[in-house]
Amino acid sequence: MNNDIIFKLKEHLPISDEELQFILTTGDKAIIESLRTAAQDVAVHQHGKIIKARGLIEISNRCKNNCLYCGIRASNSELHRYSLSDKEILECCEMGDNLGFKTFVLQGGEDVEHTTERITNLISQIRARYPHTAITLSLGERDKSDYQAWYNAGANRYLLRHETANPEHYKRLHPSTMSFENRIQCLKNLKEIGFETGTGMMVGSPYQTIDDLVSDLRFMEQLQPHMIGIGPFVPHHSTPFAKFPAGSVDITLRLISILRLMHPKANIPATTSLGTLAKNGREMGIFHGANVVMPNLSPTTHRKEYALYDNKICTDLEAAESRKQIEIQIQNIGYTLE
Ligand code: SAH
Repeated sequence: MNNDIIFKLKEHLPISDEELQFILTTGDKAIIESLRTAAQDVAVHQHGKIIKARGLIEISNRCKNNCLYCGIRASNSELHRYSLSDKEILECCEMGDNLGFKTFVLQGGEDVEHTTERITNLISQIRARYPHTAITLSLGERDKSDYQAWYNAGANRYLLRHETANPEHYKRLHPSTMSFENRIQCLKNLKEIGFETGTGMMVGSPYQTIDDLVSDLRFMEQLQPHMIGIGPFVPHHSTPFAKFPAGSVDITLRLISILRLMHPKANIPATTSLGTLAKNGREMGIFHGANVVMPNLSPTTHRKEYALYDNKICTDLEAAESRKQIEIQIQNIGYTLE
């Protein structure tokens, strides 16, 4: 019956909630290992032994929101706030292009100074300079018209994690000014416009249950995202969740494998939070079916200030060093960085 579950996942046969709960919680090492090898085989079959590099530019740590888990939440008065100028962002892109990145990811808090016009203009400039580079945005919830303007200006992809697919759980992670419905509507809007859309959740966030994780898997079955970013929750000392334990690396890896089997073609990163909690977290992510890494291209002067959680890795390496380091790690496990 147990190998059956992996077979069903691989063959995209109907699978029950109980079976998903079982595969998420079993302590049977043989089953866990066959899940992992099945997922790695599918990843290699679909994507080759190639790991895609996305250059991450953290454009602002200003945020109007107050997500209870996040270190850059508006109420964190300890944090020095920054917002990169267009010139600084374009310099990061230039460096990224020189280093061979084929995708730039512009991520930030919900900065009220990121007006529709300013971001549209910025995207147009990047698009004009780098016609063949994918532009990914991760700037939170906006009106559909903003997303449309940015798509028209040349952005191709958008990352917006749903964070949890259980509306009650969503309420415990976010202030009452935010709503699950709006977040899901944003994801639908992004897909309708034609963005390659990414979503995902934190693993082990406060109050999360195994049922919630099953709901996350069901939600993504429906949405069929192009990209799926998951990482363990990591506490940040000046948030209301400072005292909660970090999420489990093992469950995160197991979820990467399940998601790889359910979504063979999706781009699934080995995330920074995984690398933060486990020494070889990113390599382990790859062994469990991930096919993307996101080295940091942000100016080192601001890296520490983009503090989503405590002890975030790669905060002091220059972009070139950071890419080189990841490239070597990936070569050492028999893969190639592209
Ligand atoms: N404002 C953007 C970008 C948010 S930061 C947006 O709303 O999409 C990117 C991701 O970091 C979030 O979606 C969240 O899943 C993750 N994150 C934030 N705080 C975290 C924490 N304490 N531990 C782990 N991941 C966290």
